Amino acid sequence: MNSIRSRILTFFSLFALSFLVAIYVSSKIAHMIADDANNIVTNHLPMVHSLGEMQVALNRQDNAVYRYLNSKTPRWLDEFEKERLNYMRWFSQVEEGGAETMERDKLSEIDQLYVQYDNHARQILLAASHGKAPTKDILEKGGQYLTQIQGLVDEIVAFREGMTIVHRDRIQKTIRYHNKLTFIFLFSIGLFFAFLALYLWRFLVRPLSLLLNGIRDFTRGKTDVRIPPVGKDELGELQEAFNEMAHELNIERKRLRSESQSDSLTGLFNMRYFRLQLVEEFSRSQRYGHPLSLLMLDVDFFKAYNDRNGHPAGDIVLKEVSRILIRNVRGTDIVARYGGEEFVVLLPETPQESACGVAEKIRKSIEEHHFPFRETQAEKKVTASIGIGCYPDGKVTSDQDLIESADQALYAAKKGGRNQISLCFKGDIVKPRIAPK
Ligand code: GH3
Ligand code: MG
Ligand code: MG
Repeated sequence: MNSIRSRILTFFSLFALSFLVAIYVSSKIAHMIADDANNIVTNHLPMVHSLGEMQVALNRQDNAVYRYLNSKTPRWLDEFEKERLNYMRWFSQVEEGGAETMERDKLSEIDQLYVQYDNHARQILLAASHGKAPTKDILEKGGQYLTQIQGLVDEIVAFREGMTIVHRDRIQKTIRYHNKLTFIFLFSIGLFFAFLALYLWRFLVRPLSLLLNGIRDFTRGKTDVRIPPVGKDELGELQEAFNEMAHELNIERKRLRSESQSDSLTGLFNMRYFRLQLVEEFSRSQRYGHPLSLLMLDVDFFKAYNDRNGHPAGDIVLKEVSRILIRNVRGTDIVARYGGEEFVVLLPETPQESACGVAEKIRKSIEEHHFPFRETQAEKKVTASIGIGCYPDGKVTSDQDLIESADQALYAAKKGGRNQISLCFKGDIVKPRIAPK
C-alpha cells in the first residue's frame, strides 16, 4: 500500500467494484419492478377485462330472453345464442387467467350456476316459443342464478383489483427503495471523490509541489536546500535522493569554490580571486574617496635558495612567508600569492603611511624568521623586497595603475639592494614614510 501504483490500483478497484455492485443492484430492482408491472399488464388487466366482457355477455343473454318474451321476435333467439357463445368464450379466457385457488373455486361455482341459469333460460324460451308464459318460479330462479353469478364475478373482479393494488404498492415501494439506494450510492461516490481529492492532494500534489519548490530553489542557487519528508512511497524516495544529491553537490560546490579561489601550496587566495577583489575594492575606494594600498612582495634570490636547499625547502619558505603575511595584516586585508615567489597584499581603508608601516613590519618579520637551511650555507637568511602603490595618487586612476605602481616600487626595491620597502607615488619612487605607532 506504500507505492503510488498500488494506491491507484486499490482506488480504481474499489471504484470499479462499487460500480459493479450498483449496476447489479439496479438491474435486480428493475427486474422486480418489471415483474410486478408485467403481472399487472399480462394477468390482472386482461383478467379484469375478460370478466367485464363476460358480465356484459351474460347481461345481454338475459336481456335477449326478456326481449323475446315480450316481442316473440326470433332475432332475440339468435341474439341469445350469440351472447351465450360470447359468454362461453370470455369464460374460457377468464379460466385461463384464473391462477389463484380462490379464483378457480369461484369459477367452478360460476360454471355450475351458469349451467343452471342456462337451463332455466332455455326452459323460458321453449315455453315462450310454444306460446306459453313461463312460470313465475322459473323466472325467479333464473334471476337468482344470474344474480349469484354476477355476485361471484364481482368478487373475482374485486380480488383482482386488490391484487393490482398490491402490485402497484409493491412497485411504488420498490421504486422508493431504488431511489434511496441511488441516493446512497451517489452520496458515497461524492464522498469517495472528496476523499480521493484529499488523498491526491496529500500524497501527490503536496509532495510534488514540495519537490518542485526544492528543485527550483536549488537551481536558483540555494544549494543548501532540504526538502521536508513527504512520505514513504516513490516520491518519498525521490525526496530523500534529492536531499542527498543536493547535500553532496553543496559540499562539492563549496570545495570547488574554495579551490578556485585559493592557491594549493600556501592556502592563500590565488591571483584570479585577488584580481576580482582588487577591481571591487578599487571601485569602492574611487566611489567613496577612501584610501587603498597595495603591497607587492618578492622573495630575494629565491632561485639561489632553491638551488642550495632544494625545491621542497623552497616550498616551506613560501608557506612560512604566507603565514608571516597573514599574521601581520588585518582580517579585512586580502593576501594572495601572485605567482612563483611573489605575493600581494591589498589593504582597504589604508593610507600610504600605514601601508608603509605594514610593509616594513612584514619585511622585518621575514628577515628575522628562521627558515630551513642546509648546514653548509654560510648566510642563513631569507629576505624579501616590497613595493608599495597607493590610492589616492594623481597617476593611479585604475586598478591596473595600482598594480603597476606597486610593481614599479618593487622593481626599485630590488634595484636598491633588496630586503627593503619602496614606495611609488605619482609615478616616482619616493622615500617611504612610516606612520608613528
Ligand atoms: P630576485 O631577488 O631578483 O627576485 O631573484 P630570484 O632568484 O628570487 O628571482 P627569479 O625570478 O630569478 O627566481 C624565482 C625562483 O622562484 C625561480 C623558481 O625556481 C622559484 N619558484 C617559483 N615558484 C616556486 C615554487 O612554487 N616553489 C619553489 N620551491 N620555488 C619556486
Ligand atoms: Mg620573482
Ligand atoms: Mg625573487
